[in-house]
Amino acid sequence: MSNEKAQPFTLAGTQIMPGKRTIVEMPAAQLYTNTPLNIPVHVVHGKKPGPVLLVCAAIHGDELNGVEIIRRILQVASLRNLSGTLVAVPVVNVFGFIHKSRYLPDRRDLNRCFPGSETGSLGARMAYLFKNQVLDVCTHAIDLHTGAIYRSNVPQIRANLASEATAEMAQAFGVPLVLNSVLRDGTLREVAEANNIPVITYEAGEALRFEESCIRPGVRGVLNVMRHLGMLPPSKKPNPKVEPSVARSSMWVRAENDGVFRPMVGLGHRIKENQLLGRISSPFNSDEVDLISPCAGILVGRNNLPLVNEGEALFHIARFEEVKEVALQMKEFTANITESGPATEGEPPIAP
Ligand SMILES: [Zn+2]
Repeated sequence: MSNEKAQPFTLAGTQIMPGKRTIVEMPAAQLYTNTPLNIPVHVVHGKKPGPVLLVCAAIHGDELNGVEIIRRILQVASLRNLSGTLVAVPVVNVFGFIHKSRYLPDRRDLNRCFPGSETGSLGARMAYLFKNQVLDVCTHAIDLHTGAIYRSNVPQIRANLASEATAEMAQAFGVPLVLNSVLRDGTLREVAEANNIPVITYEAGEALRFEESCIRPGVRGVLNVMRHLGMLPPSKKPNPKVEPSVARSSMWVRAENDGVFRPMVGLGHRIKENQLLGRISSPFNSDEVDLISPCAGILVGRNNLPLVNEGEALFHIARFEEVKEVALQMKEFTANITESGPATEGEPPIAP
């Protein structure tokens, strides 16, 4: 191991010495009551040099699993042996977080505002600040998300696999499902990749919930990526090896009519072509419509709200070459998360 020493690290005008940690309060805006609104940024600066990893959550203010993932990561004892720097932002969209909302007060989606501008809308200004003060000092990034409100995602990584370093991070994270997703305009992911910062998105669970079955793999995943990047020493009791499968495509099955929706299949389960996925019925008569799967695959996302309108996205199905093997991996992965017990101290049990 090299004896090289890290240099001091500067974020948003605050200098952090090697081996120290701090919280930088980044002024985001003011509420109209004159109350200043900050984005707290945790910086753990290792004694030894290495990558600068950004881990951020709640860029959509109601997506909470990542907030808890970051809280647990910051308590991990091996951060004492960190090489490089961990920049952890539990809540990027502080406005949305306060209002339990995905959006900003002007109804904009912060994750469509990047790279932003100094003189634009509130969203553009926040995006500009975050990009310039935080993202630009990082070398790698993990963006933590959940499904939208009333929508659950099975733990999965989304990444632009055309970039080799990104694909390696996606692999290292260690969840079985990887979706090769195109970069959407205005996202943090797009602006990071455009600036040669490899970035992956972890999508797991539903907005406004804490889900242990999504939080635990998220904590493990971030630590796996940190080990892969050489920021942490190898684990003494390594997690079971997960060989992720990359979906060749994915599609949404939508509601064919308005009504009351009952799903018949669970998240992460294998779906066969022509399988009954659910039913939409009328609460006032016996009318009922079956929802039939147009393809085989794995159910990676699902609507949880029984009240649906025509056209609403209900089932997200990812398609794989070897769907049987992926289904098996999913089963093993889920069992392992449930049985392996807490990875960090003070974790609640996984309630059925
Ligand atoms: Zn999101």
